[in-house]
Amino acid sequence: MALAVKIISIEHLTHDVLKIVAEKPNNIAYNPGQAVDVSINKAGWEKELRPFTFTSLPEEDQIEFNIKTYTSHKGVTNELLSLKPGDELLIGDVFGDIAYKGEGIFIAGGAGITPFIAILKHLQKSQQVGNSKLIFANKTKADIIDEGFFKKLLGSNFINVLSDEKTPGYEHGYITADVIKKQITGHDYFYLCGPPPMMDAVEKHLASLGITSDRIVKEAF
Ligand SMILES: Cc1cc2nc3c(=O)[nH]c(=O)nc-3n(C[C@H](O)[C@H](O)[C@H](O)COP(=O)(O)OP(=O)(O)OC[C@H]3O[C@@H](n4cnc5c(N)ncnc54)[C@H](O)[C@@H]3O)c2cc1C
Repeated sequence: MALAVKIISIEHLTHDVLKIVAEKPNNIAYNPGQAVDVSINKAGWEKELRPFTFTSLPEEDQIEFNIKTYTSHKGVTNELLSLKPGDELLIGDVFGDIAYKGEGIFIAGGAGITPFIAILKHLQKSQQVGNSKLIFANKTKADIIDEGFFKKLLGSNFINVLSDEKTPGYEHGYITADVIKKQITGHDYFYLCGPPPMMDAVEKHLASLGITSDRIVKEAF
């Protein structure tokens, strides 16, 4: 059964990504990297469930989502743009295939970063960041979610790849096998999340580098 929770704050993180902080439903349990079905508690929208990933940690008193909005879809993410503190979300079932298994390279495209925000926050808190690396693909610098957080946490282990912009200090183009190969220094796992075409391409690169599927943890957005 879906539980109604009030939005505490709603603000733009980037030009098209919202950060929504809401009340935590009673008895909800989730692991860093997991998602939940969410709808808007507003006439006509209650049954429009969409999956979003918790960017908060399970032990926090509030829940948080980072949500990329698509105005052209005229769907739930567009409708979220009209919400304000005090409005309600309906929180349903928790699920998700991404869970931390051990040190690795996180590879994300766009909003596919959200499970890794939660996992890296967890690793930071438990002092297990170690040699974790993040390769993050976006169109432009303005699309990068939480750039400051990742830079501070990972330093040179944070690699940005921009497809539509040439910026000094940032890789240009798509994530290639070569971009990944340069970062592999005995990593056990490869965590992968993003839009299906990006995932397909990256999985082919990983296969070409001899990475077997048992070392890949993934979810398509
Ligand atoms: C497990 C999981 C976790 C996720 N977590 C997150 C997260 O934390 N943050 C995040 O930002 N996203 C996340 N996503 C992706 C997110 O769920 C989708 O972006 C969201 O469902 C889009 O909802 P929407 O109603 O706005 O659009 P949609 O449901 O994609 O589309 C609504 C309607 O718009 C039309 N439409 C579809 N595509 C187009 C198009 N290209 N152009 C024009 N019209 C179109 C169709 O008629 C469709 O029915 C996650 C996805 C999964 C699977």
